Amino acid sequence: MITAPTPTPQAKSWQLHWREAVRDPRELLRLLGLDAEAARISETAAAQFPLRVPRGFVARMQPGDLGDPLLRQVLPVVDEDRLVAGFDLDAVGDAAARGATGLIHKYEGRALLIATGSCAVHCRYCFRRHFPYGEETAAANHWQAALDYLRADPGISEVLLSGGDPLSLATGKLAELTDALRTLPQIRRLRLHTRLPVVLPERIDEELLTWLARLPWPVVVVIHANHAREIDASVGQAVAALRRTGATVLNQAVLLRGINDEAGRLAELSERLFEIGVLPYYLHQLDRVAGAAHFEVDDATAIALHRELMTRLPGYLVPRLVREIPGEASKTPV
Ligand SMILES: *Cc1c(COP(=O)(O)O)cnc(C)c1O
Ligand code: SF4
Repeated sequence: MITAPTPTPQAKSWQLHWREAVRDPRELLRLLGLDAEAARISETAAAQFPLRVPRGFVARMQPGDLGDPLLRQVLPVVDEDRLVAGFDLDAVGDAAARGATGLIHKYEGRALLIATGSCAVHCRYCFRRHFPYGEETAAANHWQAALDYLRADPGISEVLLSGGDPLSLATGKLAELTDALRTLPQIRRLRLHTRLPVVLPERIDEELLTWLARLPWPVVVVIHANHAREIDASVGQAVAALRRTGATVLNQAVLLRGINDEAGRLAELSERLFEIGVLPYYLHQLDRVAGAAHFEVDDATAIALHRELMTRLPGYLVPRLVREIPGEASKTPV
């Protein structure tokens, strides 16, 4: 018989789990029984975009394996210091698509709010690792700039909360936004782009679930997992709780060299996701952000992998292979 763990009233808050994240590359390596010399850590990269990884995610890494696909997503290494032509600071043209403070309006009907700059985990390939969050978050000043923009454009029917990670905000702060959005009749959907259900599933607490369940619109939660091993029982429980609020849960992944660039790995990711009630949505070609060149998979390889995935899986488990091209009206199929 399978018994579910009973949550105790004195269970640690998600904020506490957040604060206990590992921030020192040497501590991370020590926890995994790895040699710091062999790891080729970059102090420069760590200073520019510090290591940060919740302990629950570390627990899913394989001790003694420097090539662990979860470790490689978070460890700052010297490969990041290489300057590579074409890999820039603003890889996806966000600066040009800025509609208001912290609001990016690129696609018809959908506006994306950079709700906050914080994330519970720092992914080395992140296209926003150089983003000027200091000045550019939508939650500042009670979301006023974003709300004014939305009010002035009745064509926007879907609001996307992104970041950073929008669930790094307190639930009360999110409710402040959705309370104001209720007064805008054009809003038909709310979408959250968040990696927290994967890297810090404790964030999916009762307060958050109550807020979600009471929203007047269909909610889509797009999580972000790149490898099947990121998904353990705690992630499964967080997703199940999200789905009980009525939310549709999708996944986006990034195609990453040395991490998930094999058809078998991608197939296993889709299978694992479906087992916990998540459908694959996008498989992104890497955004060409400075410091991430060593993760890039060339287009020919990406297309071949995607073709193979189509032969192995039912169509609904094959994510769309896309890339973001600045100035285009949608994500672009590769
Ligand atoms: C990716 C993105 C969206 C969402 O695109 P979908 O294809 O609807 O998932 C919306 N706005 C911005 C600025 C984006 O980068
Ligand atoms: S969680 Fe998302 S936004 Fe945050 S660092 Fe990772 S990829 Fe970037």
